[in-house]
Amino acid sequence: MRILLLSDIHSNLEALEACLAASPPYDHIVNLGDMVGYGGSPNEVVELSRASGKYFVRGNHDKAAVGLMELRDFNPIAGLAALWTREQLTPENMAWLQSLPAGPVYVENLDGVQFVHGSPRDEDEYVVNEEDAVMVLEDVDTPVSFIGHTHLQGSFSSDAAHPIFHPQYNSIAKHESSDLKLDTGTRYLINPGSVGQPRDGDWRSGFALYDSDTQVVSFHRLPYDLRKAQDRIINANLPQRLATRLAAGK
Ligand code: ZN
Repeated sequence: MRILLLSDIHSNLEALEACLAASPPYDHIVNLGDMVGYGGSPNEVVELSRASGKYFVRGNHDKAAVGLMELRDFNPIAGLAALWTREQLTPENMAWLQSLPAGPVYVENLDGVQFVHGSPRDEDEYVVNEEDAVMVLEDVDTPVSFIGHTHLQGSFSSDAAHPIFHPQYNSIAKHESSDLKLDTGTRYLINPGSVGQPRDGDWRSGFALYDSDTQVVSFHRLPYDLRKAQDRIINANLPQRLATRLAAGK
């Protein structure tokens, strides 16, 4: 079974369209949450996501936009974007986002794999570094957990010899991929990267493809229509910083 993993789209329609167009063939899409927040196309992203997949996990920005979470913990820019998103969402898209499950989510006929937004033990937990990952991996029995939330593409594992995998790329100008082969008996926390707001210094959109037959995760980065996504943010009168950070990948 081949799973296309999309996470942290953040209302960036141009990036989502580019990923869907560039992805190798897949059987299912699993969306790891934060479909909305920050970007200028919340309704379009919700509608395209709904139309292209059936497995979803909610993210903290989805919760914030639909009133399921206090905005207190958000920085002022994220809070503003959440309030703007709330005003934009159609009643139908609002209701659908409110109905999304907290993880873990499972895919039919796919054993040993779970899907969450933050971490398997807490939907809002950030797994940023090796220290965080070691603690989470101690608590997890499921061999493979796909996570989002940090917008950092790569993998942590319980294999002390290879605890971290960073995808290797050669440029920031074209579509590239980088493969990780999973070992039996090792537990993994794998982040496909952010479709709509990467934060690792590479502006390109990120996604991953997991093949359960070959046990290979292919990480991808690809250019998208950055200018158009930025224009939507500016034209919506959202904070300018939300547009400039897309170009910096930070
Ligand atoms: Zn996010």
